[in-house]
Amino acid sequence: MKQQKKGLNTICTHFGQLEDKEFKGAISPLYMGTAYAFEDIDVKRYPRYFNTPNQVALAKKIAALEHAEAALIFGSGMAAISTSLLAFLKAGDHIVIQKIIYGGTYNLIVEEFEKFGISYSFTDGFKAEDFEAKIKENTKVIYIETPSNPLLNITDLKAVADLSKKHGLISMIDNTFASPVNQNPVDFGIDVVIHSATKYMGGHSDICAGAVASTEANIKKIFSLAKNFGGSLSDYTVWLLERSIKTMGIRVRAQNANAQKMAEYLYGHKDISAVYYPGLPSHPDHNIAKKQMKGFGGMLSFELNADFNASQFQKSLKLIKPAMSLAGVESTVLSPTLTSHSLLSAEERKRQGIADGLIRFSVGIEETEDLIADLEQALEIVRKESKLAV
Ligand code: PLP
Repeated sequence: MKQQKKGLNTICTHFGQLEDKEFKGAISPLYMGTAYAFEDIDVKRYPRYFNTPNQVALAKKIAALEHAEAALIFGSGMAAISTSLLAFLKAGDHIVIQKIIYGGTYNLIVEEFEKFGISYSFTDGFKAEDFEAKIKENTKVIYIETPSNPLLNITDLKAVADLSKKHGLISMIDNTFASPVNQNPVDFGIDVVIHSATKYMGGHSDICAGAVASTEANIKKIFSLAKNFGGSLSDYTVWLLERSIKTMGIRVRAQNANAQKMAEYLYGHKDISAVYYPGLPSHPDHNIAKKQMKGFGGMLSFELNADFNASQFQKSLKLIKPAMSLAGVESTVLSPTLTSHSLLSAEERKRQGIADGLIRFSVGIEETEDLIADLEQALEIVRKESKLAV
């Protein structure tokens, strides 16, 4: 009988799970072993070979979630990113990558790639034409991040995948902001899908992990580097991540719904001058987002009125926490100017569209009325202060 394709929450809950043959427990047993008897000459189980029972089980779940043939789990998102990039790039090669990208990825490229003899070109924009314009004879990889951080720009996945195929390049995406719940880039022809599993996959702000999903052949190529670089994840955390992913579908869908409500509440608010959320029809890339995303995600950004103090706004929040990371069940905010983008010059921030009053909002699963009440009371404080300062 042909196996029926399972739905998202069924994959999240069951797929790849290890059977507890001895005690018939409902969850995967945890195998912490670092030494295993040889099963045969080809299978040598060892954590840094990415092939312990729990790693293999979770990789199957993540591959299924990303509609990919295979996956690997890493000790962090950056371990997944660096290993995947270097698996497809060697001395003399070139990569095209968007300039507005996760800061760690940007640093990896500008601080490390020269040492490996790999050159790079950044695109200012997010469109396929922007990437095509930077392709050189020695380009091997196109790397995108959509939705982007912090302004939630959207890149057309199919256009980038087609472009990569046309030029014989590997297309890679950091799919962290969307999560596999909202976006499956493989369906549009993207070759390699990477996650900081620290974010929506973990979802509770207590796991640091990474993952990459692709074809069997690509994963084999990434693995051959991964075992040498050694960025595997401890089996205990693998097991914890498997547990977290069981609820990823319901968490992320709740976050999508909350973020949409927050974006609608903030849009047109007298204290807010702009809202960036792909789920708003006013977002310039709303139509592309609608085409390629199943949900618009839990991340949005908004700009406080120019005379409002962003630092005071964050400090005035009672329920929503100012925090560097994102995607947990608890709502958090961050001022890019004061944190992630503080090292850029004011001019460069302006060029990138990052206003001093910009607030990045990772929307959690709390009740929306409680989130709105918290934002309202904080806005009232900064509104009063701005009037006093006049
Ligand atoms: N990609 C994105 C979009 C991120 O936000 C982050 C971390 O914030 C990373 C990658 C890096 O992941 P990790 O911190 O798990 O190494």
